Amino acid sequence: MRALRLLEWKSDPVLVEVEEPVPGPGQVVVRVGGAGACHSDLHLMREFEAGLLPWGPPFTLGHENAGWVHALGDGVRGLEVGQPVAVHGAWGCGSCDRCRVGMENYCDDPGAAPAPMGGGGLGLDGGMADLLLVPDARHLVPLPDGLDPVHAAPLTDAGLTPYHAVRRSWPKLVPGSTAVVIGVGGLGHLAVQILKATTAARVVAVDTRAAALELAAGCGADAMVPAGPEAPAQVRAATASGRGADVVLDFVGSDSTMALGASASRMLGDLTVVGIAGGTLPVSFFSVPYELSIQTTYWGSRPELVEMLDLGARGLVVPRITTFPLEKAADAYRAMEAGEIEGRAVVVP
Ligand SMILES: [Zn+2]
Ligand SMILES: [Zn+2]
Repeated sequence: MRALRLLEWKSDPVLVEVEEPVPGPGQVVVRVGGAGACHSDLHLMREFEAGLLPWGPPFTLGHENAGWVHALGDGVRGLEVGQPVAVHGAWGCGSCDRCRVGMENYCDDPGAAPAPMGGGGLGLDGGMADLLLVPDARHLVPLPDGLDPVHAAPLTDAGLTPYHAVRRSWPKLVPGSTAVVIGVGGLGHLAVQILKATTAARVVAVDTRAAALELAAGCGADAMVPAGPEAPAQVRAATASGRGADVVLDFVGSDSTMALGASASRMLGDLTVVGIAGGTLPVSFFSVPYELSIQTTYWGSRPELVEMLDLGARGLVVPRITTFPLEKAADAYRAMEAGEIEGRAVVVP
C-alpha cells in the first residue's frame, strides 16, 4: 500500500510503498477515508530534531483520521468490518487514571504508551496511507449517522482541540460574555462554530489575512479584527462595555498573539494558548489582569470526541475543507504553508 512517510527530521515526507498492516489481538486496521493535514506536521518537517521529543521518524504522517473498519484482530468486539469510524488520535498507556476516563492526551504514564505523548502520525504510523493500524480498538469512535469520514477526520483534531479548549471555559461563557479567537485557520474556524453552537458568547475573530476574517464571518463570528497595532483596542472595543474578553483562545501562540490575548482579557478571564508558534508571555503581578488564568491545552479526550462528532453529524459544526488525493499530499502542505488553504486540507487516499 501507499504511505506518506517522514523518514528523518528536517525533511519533506515521501510517498512510498509499504507492507499492509495486519491487526494483532485487540487491534484494528482502518481503511482511511480522510486524513487531515495539520500545521503541527509542518513543525515536524521543519523544526523538530533528534532529542526534542520522546519519539521520532521514520513514521507515516497523519494524526487526524477517519475511515472504515478494514480488519479486526482477535478478541475485538463491538465493531464490524465496513463500519465508519473516527480515530481518537492520542494513544496513551490505557490503564492510568487519565486513560481510564478517555483522557489519553494527558496520560500519566506516557512511558508505557506505544508513542509517549504521541500516536498515529506522531511517532507511530498515521493515516496518510491506504490503511492505518490502530493499536487498540478503544481508540475508535463509531461515526454517527450524517457524518462521512472525509468531514469527520478534521473533527478529530482541528475540531476536538478547540472543542476541549472551549468546553473547559464553558462556565465563563455566559450570556453577555465575549470570546476571542486569534487565528482563523484549520482550528480557529471550527472554534468560532463551536463557540456559537455551544455558548451564548459574542465571538470576536482576529487574523492577519482578510480571507481568514471572511471565513470567520461565514462561520458566525460577531466581529472581525485585523491583526496589527490597533488590534488590542479594537478587540477590547468589540467586547461588552469594552471591559475585555472573558475567554481568549490563541490558535497561534506567538509573542505578539499572546500579548494581544493578555491585553484583551477581562479580570477573572481565561487566556488559553493552543497554537505552538513557541512564543512566551511575561507574567508578573501587574502585567496581566487580576485572576486571569493562563493555560495551554493539548488535544481533547475520547468522550469529548464523541460530543464533537455529534455536533458535526447534526450540522452544527461543519469543517470547511479542501481535499487532495494521497499523491498530492505534498501540495496540501505547500498550500497550507503559503496560507492558501481555507479551513482544513484533507488527504483522501
Ligand atoms: Zn494536529
Ligand atoms: Zn495512561
